[in-house]
Amino acid sequence: MKEAFHNPRAEKMPREELKRSSSRLFRETVRRCFESSLFYSRKFRELGIRAEDIKSIEDMQKLRFFTTKDDIRNSYPYGMLAVERNRVVEMHASSGTTGTPVLGLHTEKDLVDWGEISARCLVMSGLTKDDVFQITPSFGMFSGGFGFYHGARKVGCTIIPASAGFSRRQIQFMLDLGTTMFSAIVSYAFRLAEVAQEMGIDVRKQTKVRKGIFGSEVWTKEMKKKLANLWDMEPYDVYGFSEMYGPGMGNDCFVHDGLHIWEDFFLVEVVDPKTGDILGPEEKGELVITTLRKEAMPLLRYRTRDISMLLDAKTCECGRTHRRYSEIIGRTDDMVKVSGVNFWPSMVESTILNNKDVGQEYRIVISRIDYKDIVRIEVESSRKLSEIEREKLRAVLKENLTNVLLFQPEVVVVDPGTLPRVEVGKAQRLVDQRINSDKSLATP
Ligand SMILES: [Zn+2]
Repeated sequence: MKEAFHNPRAEKMPREELKRSSSRLFRETVRRCFESSLFYSRKFRELGIRAEDIKSIEDMQKLRFFTTKDDIRNSYPYGMLAVERNRVVEMHASSGTTGTPVLGLHTEKDLVDWGEISARCLVMSGLTKDDVFQITPSFGMFSGGFGFYHGARKVGCTIIPASAGFSRRQIQFMLDLGTTMFSAIVSYAFRLAEVAQEMGIDVRKQTKVRKGIFGSEVWTKEMKKKLANLWDMEPYDVYGFSEMYGPGMGNDCFVHDGLHIWEDFFLVEVVDPKTGDILGPEEKGELVITTLRKEAMPLLRYRTRDISMLLDAKTCECGRTHRRYSEIIGRTDDMVKVSGVNFWPSMVESTILNNKDVGQEYRIVISRIDYKDIVRIEVESSRKLSEIEREKLRAVLKENLTNVLLFQPEVVVVDPGTLPRVEVGKAQRLVDQRINSDKSLATP
């Protein structure tokens, strides 16, 4: 199969050239922050950094600070802006838990750029101009719907901007309009197949959907396998967040070994989430990203809270030269600390989903009884089981989980369709019921 590219010249740019151009863009970004951003000019002054000290990527570490989600929140609404307010043509936000939205602001050129990188990811995932592409993430402050839209417009396919929810209608659109590819928040792709089943429709046989691009939740290879099987498709993993753009910042190619990040748009570092020390390739840590072209709201050394690792910088089998990083292993906010042991929810996911008797839905419920943390893992079976089968599955899962987590969780196996589903937004697979949790959830 010949690999398709949206922008072959940029996507296969020799690394030397890529480095030269990103060095130049980095220098320009720092200068722009210095001249136009209230937030950064103050920061530079405080730290005694002069714009002319930053000449190339090598000078990155002279910026002895990180930008955090709280910085953006504290600058709400326009404190991070680096252009006149009337040049902002679109904005998005993630809500977070504390109330103040975390904004991402865009000029006209920022939207064009977002369309470019999103189109690269969509084409990498198999979208062509002949496709009928259904967008199921919401169109609104959440950047999902619009991110796919800006990219798909560039590819020139037929777009169904269905937005979130109304699952039966989504399935009806797929059938009536001949959808061949769709985008979704990971758990919603599962939900849609379930709703179709309730409607008596077999998505593998009765829809033309054979391609999909998914993101916005941490998901493991095991989850990907389940999704592939459910829809008879090859699912692709897209990365992005609204503080910079949204979906389109990175994507996995047909090799499915990590995601390519667009190095002509972003500089990536991986740091130790506790100390901030820079880590080498294949070392797990927090992704730190610097924008290279963002006009409205450039971000320098932004702590993404996503845990991953950089892979070797060699040209990928697909022909792209842009660096790959591993699929997201967890978020710093999601790391669970229970009775002195730390674990990521993704460790639970990859352990249980390996078992063919397990469906895709599970929940990790943490409670505290008599000062003791209790971890209960609720798992749906893939079909209705007898009492004996259920007990057998429970015992196997408990043993496997104990080996991975290094403590004994409670395991409960329930019938398919028992656990709560999410129609709009992200799945809540981690439920921490510890009251006044004395910071039991790790904070970066
Ligand atoms: Zn590749």
